[in-house]
Amino acid sequence: MRLGLGWLTAVILATALPAWAQPGNRLLSRDNLSQVSAHAWTIKGSPNIGIVVGSFATLVIDNGLGSKNGKIVSDIAMSLSPSTNKLYLTTTHYHAEHATGDGGFPPGTVLVRPRMQQAELEAEGQALIDLFSSRSEQDRELLKDYRYLKPDILFDSDYRLDLGGVTVRLMWLGPAHTKGDELILVEPDSVLFSGDVVQNKTGPFFYCGECTPKSWLAVVDKVAALNPKIVVPDHTPPGDASLIAQERGLMVDIQSRAMVLKAEGKSAEEAGKIVAAELQKKYAGWTGMARIAAAVEKAYADPS
Ligand SMILES: [Zn+2]
Repeated sequence: MRLGLGWLTAVILATALPAWAQPGNRLLSRDNLSQVSAHAWTIKGSPNIGIVVGSFATLVIDNGLGSKNGKIVSDIAMSLSPSTNKLYLTTTHYHAEHATGDGGFPPGTVLVRPRMQQAELEAEGQALIDLFSSRSEQDRELLKDYRYLKPDILFDSDYRLDLGGVTVRLMWLGPAHTKGDELILVEPDSVLFSGDVVQNKTGPFFYCGECTPKSWLAVVDKVAALNPKIVVPDHTPPGDASLIAQERGLMVDIQSRAMVLKAEGKSAEEAGKIVAAELQKKYAGWTGMARIAAAVEKAYADPS
């Protein structure tokens, strides 16, 4: 099914805004740079940015909202790298605060992303840019001169990059938060940049027609098999592999309760209310739990 911009707008209007879509300070800063492991760094912000530095190449993961943020990110990445390093850029998904900083990157930057994500960006990217621009003066200003670069490398499900002394694995594992979600494993450091798929105590946002609790769970199961030591989500603090188990637990709860209530003949709406109440209690203290009813409806409608 081809989903147009109308669908996207309807989702946004019908659902409480998640943390990532809330207007706030979007300008990234070197002050929030910290080292995660031998080769990996993160700039804490909205979103968190990843940087992986090897001896002859550097990978940047997500580039911020607009060219100004992209320039801040690429300057920091290059300052951490040997001056001759080649710069690679990838994005965890197509949403504006993750993927509109291309214009701030220097010529010669190699953009690599999943084929699925590129198609989704081309179809839906503008709707997100319009959404961000409509809600915040700062976002509108930052997005004014955004430009997308044409990707140099598109891959289907798996792409390995050798950065010199450190290899990274770029993976498309199926639809979860978006159809084109990418997760990135820094292999020798056992660090996973998990996008908006594995988060830290935050409820899920299903942002594509194919995104359901079942599809998200399938992705989380593949991620669990990677067994990373450190997980760095895009909008919440880093943690260890327990973040994956937590994410899985929530998704199992949503899916299994929805299926039990469906078998009992409850409507999707009734089930949504019941499961939302149960899980808001069970997961007290988590953010983004206002969308559980919508998640249950996704589980009901999942034909798979
Ligand atoms: Zn997102």
